[in-house]
Amino acid sequence: MKLTFIGAAHEVTGSCHLLETNGKHILVDCGMEQGPDLYENQELPIAPVDIDFILLTHAHIDHSGLIPLMTKNGFKGQIVTTFATADLCDIMLRDSAHIQEFEAEWRNRKARRSGEPLYEPLYTMQDAMDAVELLSPCDYDQRIELCSGVEVRFTDIGHLLGSACIEVWITEDGVSRKIVFSGDVGNIDQPIIKDPKTIKEADYVVIESTYGNRLHGDEKPDYLGDFAEILRETFQKGGNVVIPSFAVGRTQELLYFIREIKEKNLLGDFTDFDVYVDSPLAIEATSVFTKNQRGCFDEDALNLVDKGINPLVFPGLKLSVTSDDSKLINFDSRPKVIISASGMCEAGRIRHHLKHNLWRKECTILFVGYQAVGTLGRKLIEGAPVVKLFGETIEVSARIESLKGISGHADMNGLLGWLGGFESDIKHVFVVHGEDQVTDSFAKTVTERFGISAFAPYSGGCVDLATNQILSEGSQIVKKKADKPERLRAESAFNRTINAGKYLLEVIMKNEGIANKDLAKLEAQIKNLADKWNR
Ligand SMILES: [Zn+2]
Repeated sequence: MKLTFIGAAHEVTGSCHLLETNGKHILVDCGMEQGPDLYENQELPIAPVDIDFILLTHAHIDHSGLIPLMTKNGFKGQIVTTFATADLCDIMLRDSAHIQEFEAEWRNRKARRSGEPLYEPLYTMQDAMDAVELLSPCDYDQRIELCSGVEVRFTDIGHLLGSACIEVWITEDGVSRKIVFSGDVGNIDQPIIKDPKTIKEADYVVIESTYGNRLHGDEKPDYLGDFAEILRETFQKGGNVVIPSFAVGRTQELLYFIREIKEKNLLGDFTDFDVYVDSPLAIEATSVFTKNQRGCFDEDALNLVDKGINPLVFPGLKLSVTSDDSKLINFDSRPKVIISASGMCEAGRIRHHLKHNLWRKECTILFVGYQAVGTLGRKLIEGAPVVKLFGETIEVSARIESLKGISGHADMNGLLGWLGGFESDIKHVFVVHGEDQVTDSFAKTVTERFGISAFAPYSGGCVDLATNQILSEGSQIVKKKADKPERLRAESAFNRTINAGKYLLEVIMKNEGIANKDLAKLEAQIKNLADKWNR
């Protein structure tokens, strides 16, 4: 009866924990690491073919994204999750495989020309489809027997449609223990989905800590009012509102609010505006929301459903599936809303809409989610006067706005409130899924507040659940770059480019004191080169 922490240990992404009991191997989540992670994850101590079950808390790629890699490497067990998560995984894992294949193909086009070895995608569409075949959905709140000695129950945790906290009851050699995995704990009062439900009993709790040291603030933003105001001001000038949005979750929230704005006639003369959703993934995700209304929607959204209203549909909603549909949007000259992905403007159809709208001062680019450092979205928010799109320099004349969003994660008080719902004595709380120091500080907060032992394991950390003995705290191995063999080649090419850059700087230094005319020529050539690649 052993629990090992593999991923999202002192990190925010790549959730993965391994439960071993009654001769079975059970993974809880199997997520992809995204963005800059600090520590090396330990390899799974067993081969994918020997994993019997994957329990999945929710569909976000940092919790589900490596499942196709498991099927690629021989996993043939069941993936147990809620119906809505299974539906979302069906589209999100295929989308992730598409990205992997697209990236590999892009690299290989260059590799073929230069005679370098080919790059293998992390996994393919077939691997993702094989994973989808293994999904075994269940209802919320049903206690089900996974195998002899192991029962599980999925409870709504209010983070994303279908998201769950997972309760696991284990009995082995006459000893029974209950472990609760929080998954990502949702924020209260999010539109469409329910608030997180608390659990009463556990011996052990594994809890996320994304906002383990932060508070969202007491003042609730007037999302609807602020959004309506931006729409009105833009339409008055005859412009478009272009919204870079995450396809799953955020887009559906926007549709929910726009329906309300239209229904309440908040824009007066402008109520008849059209809204284009220009993202095939967002359109598929919206239909998953509609399919799962009964099991997942909150009271307000269900009240609308009971009146025969689909809360995500309204007059003027136009869905662009094909790229021809997408191009046609540019020929519609009336003021409108365009919602498109990706949310940080790094790829996808949104870049075309930015090209057509950024230079127009009557338009607004409205950000509704976090923009990571280095992304085009972040550059725009920080006031870049010009940006490069498809090799063209585009002047930024449009109004750039951010709508203070409703976070999908509970803040520190939300997490503590959820933990406070337990009535039984908890032997140990394990803090995962947070930034390095945040995990430690939240573990300390838990102990101070509830008097429960709590600690944040590193990857490889391991506990004997029968004896409550920490077998290992895990290894704090700082990540080296280019650890995976198939990525080495790309990395060495990148290093060569860096060295070429350093050489260029050396050449510049050597030329100090030469004629101004020659310096100007060199400067122009460097700027020309930099502009060409700054895309
Ligand atoms: Zn999540």
